[in-house]
Amino acid sequence: MDEFALIAELFAPLTDRCGAHLLDDAAVVPSSARHDRVYTTDTMIAGTHFLADQPADEVAAKLARVNLSDLAAMGAEPEGYLLALALPRSVDTDWLRGFAAGLAADQDRFGWRLWGGDTTSGAERAVLTLTAIGRVPRGQAVRRGGARAGDHVYVSGWIGDGLLGLDALRGDRAATTGPAARYRRPEPRLALGQALRGVASACADVSDGLVADAGHIATASGVGLDLDAAAVPLSPAGRASVVGDPDRLRALLTGGDDYELVFTASPDAADAIARAAADAETPVTRIGRAHPGRRGPAVRVTDAQGHTLVIDRAGYTHGLGPAVPTPPDDTRSTPSQQTRRERP
Ligand code: ADP
Ligand code: MG
Repeated sequence: MDEFALIAELFAPLTDRCGAHLLDDAAVVPSSARHDRVYTTDTMIAGTHFLADQPADEVAAKLARVNLSDLAAMGAEPEGYLLALALPRSVDTDWLRGFAAGLAADQDRFGWRLWGGDTTSGAERAVLTLTAIGRVPRGQAVRRGGARAGDHVYVSGWIGDGLLGLDALRGDRAATTGPAARYRRPEPRLALGQALRGVASACADVSDGLVADAGHIATASGVGLDLDAAAVPLSPAGRASVVGDPDRLRALLTGGDDYELVFTASPDAADAIARAAADAETPVTRIGRAHPGRRGPAVRVTDAQGHTLVIDRAGYTHGLGPAVPTPPDDTRSTPSQQTRRERP
């Protein structure tokens, strides 16, 4: 059973199917007459979601920011977080000092504080979980299920730097510029997410890969999405990497770890989108259109010639089932490698 089948079959029946139907980036729960609270949690495992020799402050910043990206997708503003750490006995105090410093360095910037957590030792590898809590004005959270046929599809920033950054770090562990910097410290699009309240019809953050996360909007909304590969914004490094290499473009569209926002909006909202992008000082690019759902892939990507790009791997899914043996050098086990190993 893959991750999403497991969630739909075993966990979705446990929800109230209203605030939390497990289709959004976070759960939305009424909290007061004026606000809803928004909850999300994400785990990072040493050697799988971060490189074992990555600096501790950077690991902390990434753990916080991947969660903040889910709050951003909902249009929420961060308030507080809970931290659950399962640590190997070998973890040293200096590493933990660095980890705490990484969290401290980001707190003012994102306007949130630590509210609680749990610490255990004896784990084989460090397993770090952060639960992020934010708020939105009542009823204004941006869900994944609101896209309608005819809506335009947009994406923020640049797609593909997550994958390129990981590749850069594999080649040179000291790399700190361009995509490597964005891989190390992704920038959650909080200002844009908040500016999209009441403007976007649906939104998700791009953690599993653009095509996969657009697919989550398509599924939750019951529409199909047509994406124009040539319109997808790439960074200078991304543009350089795809010259004459269509496979590379496919890899960037399906690689994860971008932490951009993919969203839909009615064609009438084009001016409001432009204003939201300007207010948030975040570039936004139109990359496609929603249509009534039909049989076939929920997300279809076409190239500049109008040919359908064959996407055999929409993005990162956590394969579940028999344990996958850990490679001898566990620092080489990264999310995208994991994907390849775990797919049947
Ligand atoms: P994201 O990539 O945005 O963090 P995920 O792909 O991890 O989201 O999860 C998709 C949805 O499934 C989310 O709504 C999440 O809350 C829910 N989910 C994932 N794992 C579980 C679980 N073990 N129990 C309950 N809900 C889960
Ligand atoms: Mg998400």
